[in-house]
Amino acid sequence: MAQSSAAEFWTTAAVSTGPSEAIDADLGFEVSDQAFRFVSNAAEARDLADELLPAAAEAISLSASLCPDCLAERAYDRMVVPMALFEVAGEVHLRKRCEEHGTQEDVCWTDAGLYHRARTLDEASRHPAFGNVPDGVVPDDPVLADDARSVGNVRPAEDACGTDSGGCCTGSTGETSGIGNITVTNRCDRSCHYCFFYAESGESLYEPTKAEIREMAARLAEEGVGAIQLTGGEPTVRGDIVEIVGIAAEHADQVLLNTHGARFAAEPDLAREVGAAGARGIYTSFDGLTPQHNPKNYWEFPRTLMACRDAGMCAMLVPTVVGGWNDEDLGDIVRFGAANAETVCGVNFQPVSFVGRMGSKERREQRVTVPDVIGRIAADTDGTIPADAWYPLPVYRAIAEFLSNWTGNGLYGLSSSFSSWMVTYVLVDGEELVPITDVIDIGELLGTLREVVTEYGGEPSGLDRARVAKELLADLDTLLGPEAPAAAEFGSGLRAVLADGRFDGLFDRLTECYDRVLPVGVRHFQDPYNYDLSRVDDCDVHYSMPDGRVVPFSVYNVVPERYRDRVKREHAISVAQWRDREYTALTRADAPNRTRRDGDVIDPDGGSDGNEPDEGIYGVDVTYRREGDERERGKIEEAYRASIEDLAPVRSVL
Ligand code: SF4
Repeated sequence: MAQSSAAEFWTTAAVSTGPSEAIDADLGFEVSDQAFRFVSNAAEARDLADELLPAAAEAISLSASLCPDCLAERAYDRMVVPMALFEVAGEVHLRKRCEEHGTQEDVCWTDAGLYHRARTLDEASRHPAFGNVPDGVVPDDPVLADDARSVGNVRPAEDACGTDSGGCCTGSTGETSGIGNITVTNRCDRSCHYCFFYAESGESLYEPTKAEIREMAARLAEEGVGAIQLTGGEPTVRGDIVEIVGIAAEHADQVLLNTHGARFAAEPDLAREVGAAGARGIYTSFDGLTPQHNPKNYWEFPRTLMACRDAGMCAMLVPTVVGGWNDEDLGDIVRFGAANAETVCGVNFQPVSFVGRMGSKERREQRVTVPDVIGRIAADTDGTIPADAWYPLPVYRAIAEFLSNWTGNGLYGLSSSFSSWMVTYVLVDGEELVPITDVIDIGELLGTLREVVTEYGGEPSGLDRARVAKELLADLDTLLGPEAPAAAEFGSGLRAVLADGRFDGLFDRLTECYDRVLPVGVRHFQDPYNYDLSRVDDCDVHYSMPDGRVVPFSVYNVVPERYRDRVKREHAISVAQWRDREYTALTRADAPNRTRRDGDVIDPDGGSDGNEPDEGIYGVDVTYRREGDERERGKIEEAYRASIEDLAPVRSVL
């Protein structure tokens, strides 16, 4: 079996419209364009699948992955290996084979039924007028082809991101970033055990200048970025964070700050300044409802939320879920978010991604997959938020795109591979939680909208709108869910809108009929163990780098030596250079009794080598009991309890 070079396949497979589909039809499983690195026809694909699949497994797809051991050895020339995705014992697994390190297997989804449902729904959402098309397929219709290119789902043949990836991605980021990340520092005042990007004592500092940040933001803006996210490390350790937010706001409609938020708890005025400079909200780590599971910001978080609310910013809670650690808190986190949904604009669970070398037993214990999170939330809410309330993100992207085209209201659309991101909406009705699927049948709605855009296209005339509104009005009962009383109110609101020949009432009606609406998602970023190269093109969460490149999240962080860490190294500054900058006037945040993760006590009078690197430049260990919290621990505990049990917002208790 001949192995073709990555370069060959960038210029052939990336624009392929044919061979994989023909082979799929013969074999009964999908052969991704990435698999053409290893096979060239159906017989070879069958042979490879037979070699990779264990007994009693049913093939889903053939693709390419990375060998974690080659990656760890920086053997980039051989790290891309063949991989099969398959169903076995009710789960979806992948198995790959490296000539050097043998066969490796990992679980991808622990519920094969849910996987197949999500896959089918994803296919139904793929239509050029929805902003989604099948990967790499250029529709025959020239107008649709242009539409498809304009939304970034069809990848150009050339190496658009300019990467020297050695084959870890497809050489393209597409044309737009849904979220464009800019790393503004690798410093942080926390030291979370799962963190893969903060400077420990003595490491090089990465902190781009404002001019560099402006260039990175401009690069994202050229691509038509949806939102710029300022990330780190911890962005608020920079004294010039307000100016940086302002720079980002000049280049994107939406600016998010990826922060633990603790500084806003202590300095609400800073939150107001950040909001006034253009930040729409914070994307904030929030790992649990106990200080043990959330040592990062448990004590500060109620006040952080209030600071955000007073500053007019929202807060997206982002729990990192680690098996055997905080995976029993998930239902409570949803209830906490629901109680505070006036400020909390969503909960986005992120199953932990593994870095470095890891044994299979340890991996299996800590591995959490998308259906694990969905199942745990169903169990924790006594079935109130069931598995079938969840849909793959591309379905919501399709609905958002339809509403955008048909109402003229630009809704923010973000997409991903269906297997990476599942979403539901939780409606808060008094102390009750109601899944959106109780009120509206999302699958039925998607099917109806697909019929509409197939007949009328993506840019309807006024007459088309009136005609379709009438048709939808006639079919409305089939679109409503089983939650009769609430649906009746919601339905009558929708009827009034459609009777007016309009479409813009869908989500407005929800906010009128319910106290609060909380989006809840599960976003699983790839790691070297579960990597599927065919999913990289679907990732529209990108990083802008100071050398002008924009690369997908799952390349930047999974192959750090070639992207994230290289940038850090090549643009490192010394502590002395850092001190010379105009924004580095730190308060002496580190008390003598604080320790770093490595156990060293921080010495505010200077480092052990006399080079004074110990003045809050690097992180501190979060096991330190922060003094200010001691006085109000009881009140803060009570605020959490009320938020979980009574759906009372934290501010009603504090
Ligand atoms: S808060 Fe934790 S996860 Fe975030 S950058 Fe700091 S150490 Fe890393």
